[in-house]
Amino acid sequence: MNADINTAPQAVPQAQDQPVDAVLLAQQARRRRARLRFSIAAFAAVFSIGWLAQTMLAPEMPKPVLSAKPAPPHAAIQTQWAGLAPMQRSHASDMLVSGDSLAALLARAGINAVEADAALDALRNEFDPRRLKVGQKVRIFTEWPAGAAADTDAARFAGFDFIPEPRQRLIVRRTSHLGFEVVKQVRPLSERFFFTDTLVSSSVYEAARGSGMSPNLVVELIRLFSFSIDFQRDMREGDQLEVLYTRRFDDNNQLAEEGDIVFAALTNRGKRYAYWRLAHDDGSNGYYDDEGRSVSRLLMRTPVDGARLSSRFGMRRHPILGYTRLHRGLDFAAPRGTPIYAAGNGTIEALGRNGDYGRYIRIRHRNGYATAYAHMSRYARRLKKGSEVRQGQVIGYVGASGLATGPHLHYEVLRHKKPVNPRDINVPPQHALEEAGLEKLRNAQTAIGARINALATNDNRLRSLPRRNLSTVQNR
Ligand SMILES: [Zn+2]
Repeated sequence: MNADINTAPQAVPQAQDQPVDAVLLAQQARRRRARLRFSIAAFAAVFSIGWLAQTMLAPEMPKPVLSAKPAPPHAAIQTQWAGLAPMQRSHASDMLVSGDSLAALLARAGINAVEADAALDALRNEFDPRRLKVGQKVRIFTEWPAGAAADTDAARFAGFDFIPEPRQRLIVRRTSHLGFEVVKQVRPLSERFFFTDTLVSSSVYEAARGSGMSPNLVVELIRLFSFSIDFQRDMREGDQLEVLYTRRFDDNNQLAEEGDIVFAALTNRGKRYAYWRLAHDDGSNGYYDDEGRSVSRLLMRTPVDGARLSSRFGMRRHPILGYTRLHRGLDFAAPRGTPIYAAGNGTIEALGRNGDYGRYIRIRHRNGYATAYAHMSRYARRLKKGSEVRQGQVIGYVGASGLATGPHLHYEVLRHKKPVNPRDINVPPQHALEEAGLEKLRNAQTAIGARINALATNDNRLRSLPRRNLSTVQNR
């Protein structure tokens, strides 16, 4: 107890004197220990992190791959850049030749391959350059800072443009260092009317071409009359041709595309065949005579591309055979390879070699009619017995297979399996207009007549002239 008492009082002052120290010492010791623990922990942590970094992160370091693509241009930077650098441009034109490509064309123009690739990549998102055909014009643009000379080092490829179809222009233009964008521009076209009034002196083809009509439109013109005219035998010197047709021009007065035949008349041996184009409510077009009968008949009189018939007047030296008791068909002399048309809608009932006929096709039509075509050089692809064909569809090509002295089409018409003279049959038109259609036809005739009169009051009636003042008048 004493000890307890002694120690206790001693302890108390000690405790009173020294508790501070003891507490301080204890606190200091705790702090030292804490510092040590912290140091150890920190050291361990730093060491661990270092070790981890070395063992785990270090091998990963090369992983962040650098993008091969440049960062997308910032809109703000782009505008600023554009604003700060007004550029001057010039262009050079080139054309795709056989076996050519847009890439080759750009390389030919000296465009850096990386820049050309970037421009072509942009284009491919909107348009497949492989769709471009031989003869396609391309303009290649160069730009340089305004005020500098065109041959400055700062001059660079600015893009290119082309017209893939008459009503559209595609522009590939530079927007940044290797950035290109594609802009599709609509080309507004205006239609102008042309009138031809000419005498046929050698062939309809030559007369129409000579007056300025395009080859494609002439083929259409001849097709139009092929229902009613035998272009091998019917044409005579002095026959007269009248055609009203359109062409479409761009804003620069450049011909953008051929238009349509609006009216056509052929006066053949005194008989006038005249047809007016009529737009139907469903958007299709048809050609009708003055009485509203459609130009198309059950069978065509010239079931071959009449533009290529080797017909001149009096081709006496070439045996162009007519229909006789011994020759039960009509011959059309034309160069080898001339397209042969199905004379009417129908089904192929024979296709193959047929003795003296050579390569032969026979088509069954309505009303007991059939037509046969002989001496072909080849058939149109994918045709076989049982195939359905449409009138005017190409079924084969002129040749001299079988017993033939030269390339020609031997054409037969059969009625209930008996040969008949194609020139004797008078098949009615496919259809005729009803009352409402007739009224539309009369209106169309009036409008077309007025236009022809306006065009024909030119000094030279035989010349086909564009009329600028009519260019804004749209065809009905
Ligand atoms: Zn024959």
